[in-house]
Amino acid sequence: MKKFLIAIISLFILSFSVQAQELNIRIEPKSVGQGETLVIYLESPGTLKDLGVEFLGKEIRFYEIGKDRYRAILGIPLTTEPERYNILFRIKTKRGLGIEWKETVQVKKIVFKKEVLSIPPEKSKHLTSKYLRREGKRIGKTCKKEEGNQLWEGRFILPAEGRISSPFGAYRVYNRGKASWRHKGIDIANKEGTEVVAPNSGIVVISEDMKVHGGTIIISHGQGVFSIFSHFRERLVKKGEGVERGQLIGTMGQTGLTTGSHLHWGLCASGVVVNPLEWTKRKIGD
Ligand SMILES: [Zn+2]
Repeated sequence: MKKFLIAIISLFILSFSVQAQELNIRIEPKSVGQGETLVIYLESPGTLKDLGVEFLGKEIRFYEIGKDRYRAILGIPLTTEPERYNILFRIKTKRGLGIEWKETVQVKKIVFKKEVLSIPPEKSKHLTSKYLRREGKRIGKTCKKEEGNQLWEGRFILPAEGRISSPFGAYRVYNRGKASWRHKGIDIANKEGTEVVAPNSGIVVISEDMKVHGGTIIISHGQGVFSIFSHFRERLVKKGEGVERGQLIGTMGQTGLTTGSHLHWGLCASGVVVNPLEWTKRKIGD
């Protein structure tokens, strides 16, 4: 825990009264990879009125996690240049004083895999289909809603057994350059019908069959954290339903744009796709 003592000398100095305020900021980790997750904790005993924090050109949303304790969970976009960045804190106290504070964080370069894929002719129309854009837009919009309490607890578990057939962030080139994009999740491959469970608790916000993503389920874990699953054979939960970690939510399939039976698992934090495997290895949040 890093500790800063910020002495605020206010107008009360005239009456020889000096107010001292303690502001604790903890950043985990101080060096974060592209597509990984950064957590900022802030503690400001009794005096915080207003908080504004800016990072990578965006205003950061903090959630209250206890008395005078706040936390922000930030996804680092895959395409962030690996360099040192400032996090700017602007704090207003109940006495109307403004404090500005700066912290830095290093974004590390991650080497992502390159994959060349061939989509069978009957499915290749999906590569340029208007549905691809429409569905992507809709999923992106759903994952930008940042309301709610923290519903997850502890580390996430892998949602299915199988082999990781495609890693997070891979550069993908389809059908000799007909289309290319980044892989915004991990693929777990296993036979059709393999059970898929919720990696952590949350509420189902989307459960439907899409043309390109196939059978799709999105779970909101609260506070801007979402799990996105696609290519289900069967979906066993409905929109609005609460799910617990380890609860069966569907079975693996190859619906939509796929080259075989697998589960695609994407994780979104603060509207940014991040590597879900990190959440199975590291406990993120209290
Ligand atoms: Zn995938």
